[in-house]
Amino acid sequence: EAKRKGKNTYCYYHPKMEKQALNRLEIENALRHGLNTSQLFLEYQPEVDLRNNRMVGVEALLRWQLPDGTKKSPEEFIPIAEKSALIGVLTKFVLSEVCISIRSWRGTPLQGIPISVNLSGKDLQSPTFSAEVIAILNNYNVPGDQLIFEITESIFLEGISNISQVVNDLRTYGIRFAIDDFGTGYSSFRYLQLIEIDFIKIDKSFIRHVDSNPQQAAIAKSIIDIGVNLEVSLIAEGIETETELDFIKSTKCYIVQGNLIAPPKTPADILKMNFLDKLN
Ligand code: C2E
Ligand code: MG
Ligand code: MG
Ligand code: MG
Repeated sequence: EAKRKGKNTYCYYHPKMEKQALNRLEIENALRHGLNTSQLFLEYQPEVDLRNNRMVGVEALLRWQLPDGTKKSPEEFIPIAEKSALIGVLTKFVLSEVCISIRSWRGTPLQGIPISVNLSGKDLQSPTFSAEVIAILNNYNVPGDQLIFEITESIFLEGISNISQVVNDLRTYGIRFAIDDFGTGYSSFRYLQLIEIDFIKIDKSFIRHVDSNPQQAAIAKSIIDIGVNLEVSLIAEGIETETELDFIKSTKCYIVQGNLIAPPKTPADILKMNFLDKLN
């Protein structure tokens, strides 16, 4: 109602509404301040290929820790950042940090491992986005094939008119694309015709209880069939138990990510991982 009519329109006064608006602004300001005072940093979560137990990529996950030690979840602050220009600033921060990691991994066992970055629909709406991405890559001398952009189906609802053009443009630099949280959006399969993708990430909600719930397993298998038929790589997210892993091992989804395999880790800790110890 009020929201749809625009920022300066009020339907009725409600104390709770005012409180929410205030919190949002407070968080937005705190986030800006946090960005300038090194409260934001990245963790990397490994993606492991079950066929050879090798780490084939990592996903960059943004972290925010306040001076008092409190951790704020990206589930909370990303949607707030998306309501302002702040999301663009955060995405550029993430991209720069990712390029720094890629550079620092040269000459280590992590050399050449691509990093996945979560994008917001707002990023793709910005007419300068591809140019900014390429400028950051050039600045750090990092090739585009080291980057994978994760987008969710919800961006196709936002009616970004030139989405295929932006994606194609970035693809010419070697950047690959993944559909994140596949199956949780409202979009039809239409978007799979609109853009070329390389990976489908199966949302953790479809992985959960595959062992005990036959319907859940049927959905997961159907998603995997879609990926196989489209000839894209499948990544199962949020693997927490051995039974979930056993299920995935019985399918044509070969790449896994989840706390059972490895939780998100700081850049220093990711260098210390030995995957052959972890999986058998
Ligand atoms: P996502 O992109 O789907 O990322 C996967 C989420 O699953 C991460 O949550 C990760 O920590 C969590 N996860 C990994 N393994 C497991 C597991 O075994 N069990 C469970 N229950 N969860 C697991 P996180 O880090 O809290 O991030 C939440 C969401 O916030 C992300 O979901 C992504 O949509 C968004 N996000 C995180 N970092 C960024 C960023 O840099 N930019 C943007 N635009 N969004 C981000
Ligand atoms: Mg993701
Ligand atoms: Mg996901
Ligand atoms: Mg997500």
